[in-house]
Amino acid sequence: MGVRNEKTILEQIAGAREKLGRELLLLAHFYQHDDIVRYADFVGDSLQLAEKAATQRQAKYIVFCSVSFMAETARILCRPEQEVLHPEPNARCPLANMASIGQVEAAWNALASLGRQIIPVVYVNSNADLKAFCARHGGMVCTSANVKRIFSRVLAQGTCLFFFPDENMGRNVSRDLGLAEEEMFLWDPEKGLDRAGSTSAEKAKVFLWEGFCIVHRVMVASDITRLRKKYEGITVIVHPECTPEVYSQADLAGSTNFIKATVDKAQEGSKWAIGTEWNFVNRIKRENPGKLIIPLREERCKEMAKVTPEKLLRVLIGLTSGELPGRVVVDETVAREARIALERMLEIT
Ligand code: SF4
Repeated sequence: MGVRNEKTILEQIAGAREKLGRELLLLAHFYQHDDIVRYADFVGDSLQLAEKAATQRQAKYIVFCSVSFMAETARILCRPEQEVLHPEPNARCPLANMASIGQVEAAWNALASLGRQIIPVVYVNSNADLKAFCARHGGMVCTSANVKRIFSRVLAQGTCLFFFPDENMGRNVSRDLGLAEEEMFLWDPEKGLDRAGSTSAEKAKVFLWEGFCIVHRVMVASDITRLRKKYEGITVIVHPECTPEVYSQADLAGSTNFIKATVDKAQEGSKWAIGTEWNFVNRIKRENPGKLIIPLREERCKEMAKVTPEKLLRVLIGLTSGELPGRVVVDETVAREARIALERMLEIT
């Protein structure tokens, strides 16, 4: 974007925002580019954004800058008379697309043959029909901010847990809660429950799905070793979507909001290696000039990057002319059920 063109877009966005006034609420995920974040009323992780959508009553229009499942979540949680708009409906989280309702239902039916009591828990990075599935089977949604609490709650009831679609997060949290490897079973849609030579499904307490975030998966344990060698005393903090190898070697782990809060309140002069999306790490670095902040890897989320100021402007201009570009619609039955699974999560949080 040229400087002149950028200025024009900035001015137009500012103008449209002013026109829409309090009717507009602009939400952005932490992984959005600065060119989007600077326009947002509120920036947060998926839990914070879900809570905002559920409690914000004033705005007529919620423009959601992120990937599509988050805009869908906002649609499910906000009031019927509010409209949710997404500047780029084709910005789709690859992790969310790694489990379809048909695949999950097939797995669920196979797991039923074990005769165990199993509660499904779905990561918020999922399509709405999977959230609805969880509601129908007594389960709920979780985010990276509350996953440990939700796993503990379910396992404390003596029930097993079926978690999808992020294997890494499920494995990391299960290990944190003291589960042994043989208590985790990785569901393989090809082989079902008959995985010769693998851990027996009978012993499992947590059933995992083979999904992963393509951004966090590229971070490897040798990145940590390299940075520890180079910067003595550096603290490594990572997102739980990282692989178990990275997660287990980090000093701290948690949601993006946890990462931000921890680094923000750290001592001046402290050194941090952060294992999550680059736009977010770069922003924390800028906001904390007195600390050494290094990304574990300079890895950007290409789907998040599909939301651009130009696309945001198109939505805002449409709204000022009485149109609803990028309007988010979720099937009514799916939305009603998915809402139950989201509300169960929000009650625990
Ligand atoms: S960072 Fe990973 S989990 Fe988040 S939207 Fe991108 S691909 Fe999906």
